[in-house]
Amino acid sequence: MTASAKLPPFDATDPLGIDDLLEPEDLAVRDTVRGWAADRVLPYVADWYEKGELPGIRDLARELGSLGALGMSLTGYGCAGASAVQYGLACLELEAADSGIRSLVSVQGSLAMYAVHRFGSEEQKQEWLPRMAAGEVIGCFGLTEPDHGSDPAAMRTHAKRDGDDWVLNGRKMWITNGSVAGVAVVWARTEEGIRGFVVPTDSPGFSAPEIKHKWSLRASVTSELVMDDVRLPGSAVLPEVTGLRGPLSCLSHARYGIVWGAMGAARSSFEAALDYARSREQFGRPIGGFQLTQAKLADMAVELHKGILLAHHLGRRMDAGRLRPEQVSFGKLNNVREAIDICRTARTILGANGISLEYPVMRHATNLESVLTYEGTVEMHQLVLGKALTGLDAFR
Ligand SMILES: Cc1cc2nc3c(=O)[nH]c(=O)nc-3n(C[C@H](O)[C@H](O)[C@H](O)COP(=O)(O)OP(=O)(O)OC[C@H]3O[C@@H](n4cnc5c(N)ncnc54)[C@H](O)[C@@H]3O)c2cc1C
Repeated sequence: MTASAKLPPFDATDPLGIDDLLEPEDLAVRDTVRGWAADRVLPYVADWYEKGELPGIRDLARELGSLGALGMSLTGYGCAGASAVQYGLACLELEAADSGIRSLVSVQGSLAMYAVHRFGSEEQKQEWLPRMAAGEVIGCFGLTEPDHGSDPAAMRTHAKRDGDDWVLNGRKMWITNGSVAGVAVVWARTEEGIRGFVVPTDSPGFSAPEIKHKWSLRASVTSELVMDDVRLPGSAVLPEVTGLRGPLSCLSHARYGIVWGAMGAARSSFEAALDYARSREQFGRPIGGFQLTQAKLADMAVELHKGILLAHHLGRRMDAGRLRPEQVSFGKLNNVREAIDICRTARTILGANGISLEYPVMRHATNLESVLTYEGTVEMHQLVLGKALTGLDAFR
């Protein structure tokens, strides 16, 4: 028997055989999340996107909680304790449906819950994490301000001690889940440095008006946070961290999920383009039979599966406790940039149909404009890598 006779057949959905790297439990997580998204998101998301709303977000959060998808890779307090690879696979499947749903899950688990889990007191963990893991309480994460995005060290939001209490004042901008959150993790300047505060959103002086008129992440709630003399007990501060290290380590965890998630949006667009190329006929034959279309599809497949392989590699490093923030920057920079390119190329293959919400590609492409910017812009990740490569800081 020749060696080639033993080879498995070429699989257009997994040309590199990456699935061979997955354990049966990983495949089970992936199938469960994929099935949920196919049932609960895909039939409706174009409509939500067109209307610019995410109706039923509280029900969706509870369902995601039952799936174990909220704070998925955290342990204890009702969290699933899944591996980083499993969490990544879930992010990919959710973002293949829509980046807005993946954002809901990332902010809940990797930003708000992660901050409490890693830096919170035992009382804070007991109070918030089980309900957040179940999706009964939605969380948000307030770092960005109207005048301070890429440079959060310059934030103006501040907290002052008043007896045993803290008094919080300031504004946060572009905060995912803000208007529907029951709890906000808010980063503020204090005399001791930047600290994190766990803020119940029914606190007097706290409000979260929703930001409208977005042309990206339309099936996602994005809000401003307004804090006017919000009085918090001394126990509201996250005790285990001072300084930007706190929010940055949360962001690193969330960015890791984006490395996978972006490939979900790319996969969905690639599949739409491949289907279309096989059936759409021009000049008497399927457009997939033209070399120029095949060149596009081949290049898209190469970048898609390289990106998934990269995500997998980073996931294994995270599971081994060896993932550096610069490596997360590497992944986020590459995978979001390539994903948006794949979506734009898919759009060209669909011709005029590519701009229609009947197909997912334009929705994914416009969503990825936000994903390219949030959790560190392309330029910030280039600067992180540039500094790591040269030893020279070019941020300012
Ligand atoms: C839909 C959406 C949801 C979001 N959700 C959240 C959330 O939940 N919580 C939260 O805290 N934030 C959130 N954000 C905010 C996001 O993290 C910021 O938008 C991002 O950090 C960039 O900040 P900015 O928009 O103020 O841009 P700026 O920082 O003003 O940057 C503008 C441009 O200048 C470039 N630039 C800045 N400094 C340099 C430099 N030194 N060298 C070269 N180029 C530079 C940037 O790369 C960018 O291209 C969200 C944003 C969006 C769009």
